Amino acid sequence: MAKFNKISIPSDGEKIKFEEGKLIIPDNPIIAFIEGDGTGPDIWHAAKMVFDEVVEHAYKGRKKIAWMEIFAGEKALKVYGKNKWLPEETVEAIKEFTVAIKGPLTTPVGGGIRSLNVALRQILDLFACVRPVKYYSGVPSPMKRPQDLNIILFRENTEDVYSGIEFKSGTKDSEDLIKYINKKFQKKIRIPSGVGIKPISQFGTSRLVKKAIEYARDNKRKSVTLVHKGNIMKFTEGAFKEWGYEVAKTEFRDLIVTEDELWSQYGGKLPDGKILIKDRIADSMFQQLLLRPSEYEVVATPNLNGDYLSDAAAAQVGGLGIAPGGNMSYSTAIFEATHGTAPKYAGLDKVNPGSLILSGAMMLEYIGLGKAAKLIENALKKTIKSKIVTYDFARLMKGATEVKTSEFGKAIIQNMSK
Ligand code: NAP
Repeated sequence: MAKFNKISIPSDGEKIKFEEGKLIIPDNPIIAFIEGDGTGPDIWHAAKMVFDEVVEHAYKGRKKIAWMEIFAGEKALKVYGKNKWLPEETVEAIKEFTVAIKGPLTTPVGGGIRSLNVALRQILDLFACVRPVKYYSGVPSPMKRPQDLNIILFRENTEDVYSGIEFKSGTKDSEDLIKYINKKFQKKIRIPSGVGIKPISQFGTSRLVKKAIEYARDNKRKSVTLVHKGNIMKFTEGAFKEWGYEVAKTEFRDLIVTEDELWSQYGGKLPDGKILIKDRIADSMFQQLLLRPSEYEVVATPNLNGDYLSDAAAAQVGGLGIAPGGNMSYSTAIFEATHGTAPKYAGLDKVNPGSLILSGAMMLEYIGLGKAAKLIENALKKTIKSKIVTYDFARLMKGATEVKTSEFGKAIIQNMSK
């Protein structure tokens, strides 16, 4: 095992390994965690308490997580010193120990790093951002039937306008680039303009869409929808759609039916056991999720569409306070609270830990502790249904009992045994 400077490897745990395409999970897996900034420590303490209790409850001491703290964000500055927002050994530890969970991190203002989250995703090539979105009864929602939405979103995480290739308006670089494009391709970009580059590759698209179809297959979901803006951006978003269908047809031919084939060969009725592959233009998809949410199950999309769509979908079922997420490559995965650090509430034991707790449930499922994940979900459902909630839900619910972050965690634990 690697030797780290500031990271203590727990002696009572074993490493999760990735061999021949599979995770090998010991009974006492070491899981790396980043507490997070702002309200991060508040929600992490509540969430960890829930994770430890639920694993004990589900496996009666046969399994136990060995937590290993690693550092990023403001805490890393304290531990490692100036400008060390994302220490190298943090990245090394995630690579070596395969699975991590994190609270929200402050985005450094100025300096070389745009966002620690984007940096982690790019350095570790976590190409899929996975966001399940579903409704928990009792959660205040703006929709009449929020329960009709139950999707899992696979957002490509490494390409598109997020690849950071941008040139500021008025600089020599942007001017040189514009002049080159205008001359070489007879275009008329104004000078000065800011310019960004939007790369989308077949490699990046195929591995993302493949992961989405595999998920649909393994979880008995009936459709995968490719969301793109290919009517306008033909060679990037349009190519995403084409390559998406291509990987579906070449790698999953016996399992999938495309929407064209559904009508030309099956009279509009999906045969049992098959997965329907369809596509929607991004703007249409926003209204579809509002108007016909039950027609969608798994969604695969390029980076920017996915960013908008996942927050909009989360808002439909009651907001980001409880929306979970994970960022994954083939082997490595980081599960995370999807909201920010909410710094004005830091240390007040006030905010909703639901997002981190449900991200932890995703993580437990990922490492084969599905029984514990189900227990968390059921207990959280019961807690919200009984109107024991943090301030964010309490202000929107009639007759709610407002509790602190830690009390919400304890209420979930109590509801596990009910
Ligand atoms: P934010 O931290 O998400 O907070 C915005 C508002 O969302 C809060 O004021 C609060 O609303 C609500 N909120 C957030 N988390 C909540 C929770 N757990 N429970 C209940 N309500 C919650 O967004 P921000 O203020 O724009 O960003 C603050 C910092 O976080 C920035 O440095 C940003 O870059 C960073 N950030 C990090 C991540 C990440 O690490 N994944 C993601 C986004 C932003 P009310 O005011 O209505 O109570």
